[in-house]
Amino acid sequence: MPKSGVAYVTSVGMEVHAELLTETKMFCGCLNRFGGEVNTRVCPVCLALPGALPYINRRAVEHVLRTALALNCQIAMRSLFHRKNYFYPDLPKGYQLSQYEETNPIGYAGYLVIPAGDDGLATKRVRLRRVHLEEDTGKLMHLPSGGSGVDCNRAGVPLMEIVTDFPPDIHTPEEAREYLQQLRLLLVYLGVCDGKMEQGSLRCEPNISIAEESAEKLGVKTELKNLGSFRAVASGIRHEETRMADELGRGNELKQETRGWNEDKETSFVMRVKEQEQDYRYFTDPDLPPMVFTEEYIETLRANLPELPMQKRQRYIEALGLSAYDAGVLVADREWAEFFDGAVEDGGDPKQVCNWMNGDFARLLNEDKLDVSESKVRPSHIVNIVNLVESGAINGKTAKEVFERTYKSGELPAEIIESEGLSQISDTGAILCVVREAIKENPDAVGKFKEGKTNIKGFFVGKVMQKTKGRANAEIVNQLLDVELSK
Ligand code: ZN
Ligand code: MN
Repeated sequence: MPKSGVAYVTSVGMEVHAELLTETKMFCGCLNRFGGEVNTRVCPVCLALPGALPYINRRAVEHVLRTALALNCQIAMRSLFHRKNYFYPDLPKGYQLSQYEETNPIGYAGYLVIPAGDDGLATKRVRLRRVHLEEDTGKLMHLPSGGSGVDCNRAGVPLMEIVTDFPPDIHTPEEAREYLQQLRLLLVYLGVCDGKMEQGSLRCEPNISIAEESAEKLGVKTELKNLGSFRAVASGIRHEETRMADELGRGNELKQETRGWNEDKETSFVMRVKEQEQDYRYFTDPDLPPMVFTEEYIETLRANLPELPMQKRQRYIEALGLSAYDAGVLVADREWAEFFDGAVEDGGDPKQVCNWMNGDFARLLNEDKLDVSESKVRPSHIVNIVNLVESGAINGKTAKEVFERTYKSGELPAEIIESEGLSQISDTGAILCVVREAIKENPDAVGKFKEGKTNIKGFFVGKVMQKTKGRANAEIVNQLLDVELSK
């Protein structure tokens, strides 16, 4: 009989691998690039031919240090590489160079702050256990002939691993997704990873367990693989919590296993069952010296960190008065946020600048499938249009048309208004003439108005706007119509 009414708590640990943006691989001079003809970016070092000696990529180490600092980690001032020995066909060396032990990883004991709560105004800390540096493996591939092969272009690419602390702070699929999105954004802002999940440069393997609310220990965990998108992360975890609750409800015991996610079928399948913890026979790599950092070097890196996405987001909300939603949309793309910062620095009202950006500007870019960097619109254009509307020089309708022209040509809005004579008419006398004309030309409509159909006023507003090519100040038009129609 299924157990009913049992409340389970889900716990999710996150293990994330990020390929680092470097010119060359981790321990040799081969180019670090996605794709390319198979086995063309290899050398004796990344293929581990006998006698080949690895050397450490300084830029990769710097990327991990900066990430660890941005993630509020402790830094190991002396850090080693270890060999993690195991056999798998995508690992021609027979071991992966990685970092072992509790306080040896470059970064440890940190945390990432993520948005929380229904309105996104609260925040939550997700504690991190380690941020370490290792190398990527090759890729197994199916050959047209039916056999399999290994492409070693990826073997030896610098890889950073970021692992959350235990017991987990993440308890829902949505939190897991938020964590991954914020982490990805942080890496992109730091310029250490391109964050392309679809190309595998950012990979996430959550482990999921459920336990009764009153339980003292966490339940048996499943590790989930093949999650190629944020959506897959959330739906995969949701599927697992339901599947495990079902199993327990039927009185079955859960097995510790690794499962794959089938995104098309929205279901998971067993990849392997863990019999026992694998023994990787870790030992210090004899060919690589320890990395030793000075206090001064670390403090220089810390001082040069950019404003991080969550700091930006909180500043937009708290100092600039934007909603959590608007702030989130701006921060989600680094260039978009920098554009916004530029416009606000130029004196644009933050709320108005944000409305133009996330409204008309985003729509136009989206229609043309352009990035903000490819557009002719610069922050000064947005500030200009915001100020023209605010000062009453043009009305909202004209502003939209002017902005579309600015978007197409790159002309300054003020220049378009000047050359086209588009400025708003706020001269009461001039508007009154037009209002009277409209009333005179439409006696039937006036009759209806007098019979009590007051919403016909909108018809007159339209007529006046038509006659002034949309340039009349709408507020004045409305005031004058109220007076004239009631005569
Ligand atoms: Zn190489
Ligand atoms: Mn790893």
